Formats: sequence, structure tokens, C-alpha cells
Amino acid sequence: MKIISVEPIPVAYPEPNDFQAERYLCLVKITDDQGNVGWGECITQFKEANFATAALIDGLSELIIGKNPILNNSIWNEIKERMWWYGYRGGIASYALSAIDIALWDLRGKNLGLSLLEMLGGPVHEKLPAIASGHAHDSSIPKMAEQAQEWLSAGLQGMKVGFGKRGDAHLGYEHDRDVEYVHAMREAIGADKKLMIDLGYAIKWDIATAVKRVQAFDEDNIDWIEEPLGAWNPEGYRTLRSKSKCLIAYGEREWNVAGYEAILETGTCDVFGIDPGRVEGITGFTKIVSRIESHRRTANAHAWSSAIVSAASIAVSFTSSAFKLFEFKPLPNPMQNELVTQPLEHVDGWVYPPLGKPGLGIEVIDEVVDRYRQIKL
Ligand SMILES: [Mg+2]
Repeated sequence: MKIISVEPIPVAYPEPNDFQAERYLCLVKITDDQGNVGWGECITQFKEANFATAALIDGLSELIIGKNPILNNSIWNEIKERMWWYGYRGGIASYALSAIDIALWDLRGKNLGLSLLEMLGGPVHEKLPAIASGHAHDSSIPKMAEQAQEWLSAGLQGMKVGFGKRGDAHLGYEHDRDVEYVHAMREAIGADKKLMIDLGYAIKWDIATAVKRVQAFDEDNIDWIEEPLGAWNPEGYRTLRSKSKCLIAYGEREWNVAGYEAILETGTCDVFGIDPGRVEGITGFTKIVSRIESHRRTANAHAWSSAIVSAASIAVSFTSSAFKLFEFKPLPNPMQNELVTQPLEHVDGWVYPPLGKPGLGIEVIDEVVDRYRQIKL
């Protein structure tokens, strides 16, 4: 049993959940001599990072071709060794390893006839609540309240909404508008639903602003505030956490165990965002989750790209009590709904353990991949 090819495929696609912005992912297709194919993905986000990652995957393919696809941990470690210089502390090298690792787990499962969740040892949850994870785009708060109700109409158990995003919502910039918005959303979705606010990179609150804003949001019982002070600000997060009621979420920009360890040591984060398409794949993801679980904190999959990362994220979310829910994009989009024969869905607001289908349990459609292939920088 041998791997015979490794093909990086940068893709570009319009994202309806992000005001039709063009977004970028690097996929990888790994094929073995048994005719099995494994798919991986990393969430590069920008076109230049996409091509750089594809070049790294191309270079790393010499460590993969000819290897037994069952021995994916050995390959993961060999790639880590190779990255010692250009991947220290993370960066684009982590994207390349992430995509390769996800594809290798998929391939391993297809060769063994086991689902990823079976290979990871099985679920600890019977089901997980599903929520909508979207961006607000409209200038009218009543209209956004209507949209929130639409998002939740299929039974989703709450919503996380991004501030500081594209479109006309203008959220994250003015105290009164933000508070009015959060209040309107709470009224629209009801007291029993989860409500989280996620600050985009464009929002640069200082500590005092964050405290004032989050205390006001607390009046409407938000469940958590995500990245209100960016990726790294232990002092600010310590202050905010001591003065607010909701949970503090961040971490999604870290690359590996060392990054998450650094945040855990500060004791300032309740909910850790983690993306297998960034944190050295499923292998990296599970290492991080075990640390978060032992610190009795919450882990939350940052699965906002393709069905490949979502499938990996759902499986890992079922392996640990640290996970409490799973996020779905509210609007149909190419990388979730066109890419695979059976899009991943919740059932009346619940997601169930993905067992029974080998590997990631999804079937990627080659023609769709070709349709979105990124040809030029
Ligand atoms: Mg986020």
C-alpha cells in the first residue's frame, strides 16, 4: 500500500455568508495505489497565502509519495521535522501540514474501512447542539433581526454573529448601535437560544471600550464574546474577564499546541477556537483538545470554510467533553453545498456522531473542485 500522488489545489470562491467576498482555500488530493483518494484542506483565506501553501505542499510531497497511508502519524512527524526552520511557531507551513494531515486521515480511513471518529476511538456525546455562525450585513437592525429568525427557523439552537464585517451593518464601531443590535437579536431569537458576538479583525477596541461594551451586552445574556481584544492580550483579557459575566472566547489564530499552551497559562480564555485547517490538521487538533480538556476549558471548532474541514471538525468535536456545540454557516455556499455529494447538515438543531462512512465520510466532486480552481495570483 503506497501513496502515489499529492496534488495541492488552491481554490477561490464567492462566500454568500461574507457579503459575496472572494475567499481562498488550499485543498490537497492524495491518492494511493489502491485507488483510494484522501482530501484535505487548509483555510489560507488570502490568494497569496494560497499559492505559497500550494508550493510548500508540492515541496513536501517528496516526504509523502511512496509511504504507507496507514502510517499517517509517522508522516506528520517527518513533515514537522522538515519544517524546523520555516515553520517554527507556525505560519504558512502549518497550513501545508494541516491540509496534508487531514487528507492522510481521510485516506487512512478509506483503506481501513473506518470513519475518522472510529479511528479516534468513538464519541463521548450522543449529539451536539448546532448553531448558526454568520455575519451581519444589513443597515437595518429590524431587518437583521428578521434574518436571524430565518437563520434559526430550521431549529438551530442559537447564533454567533461577526461584527466589523463587510456590508452595511456597521457593527462594532458605535456603543449605542451595538447595544441596540444585541438587544434586538435577543428579542428576535428568544431567551432560550444561544447568542455569541464575534469581533472581526477590523475592530480595535481598547480595554475600556471592551469592558463597557461587553457589560452592556451582558444585560442581554450573551453566551460568549469572541476575540474582543484580538488574538493576544493577556492583561486586557484578564481585566475584561473579571468585569464581565459572559465567557471569553479566543485562540483561533494560534497555530499549534505551543500557542494554545501560552493562552492556557494566562487563564484568561474560556472558549478556545480551533481550526484543523490551521493547527497542523486533525493530529494537531486532537493534541490541542486534550490540553484544553485537561484544563477544564471549552473547545470550539472554527469550521467556516469547506465541508472537508467541517467533516474533520465534527468528528473531533465528538471525541471530547470540552466541546459543547457545533457551528453551521446559515447561507448555502459553494464549498459546503456544492463541493460534496451530501452536504453536512444538522437535524432539527442537532448534529450527530459521523459514524459508518470511511474517512471523513464525505465525497468530494472533482468537477466542482475544478470549477473553483485558483489559476492566477
Ligand atoms: Mg471567530
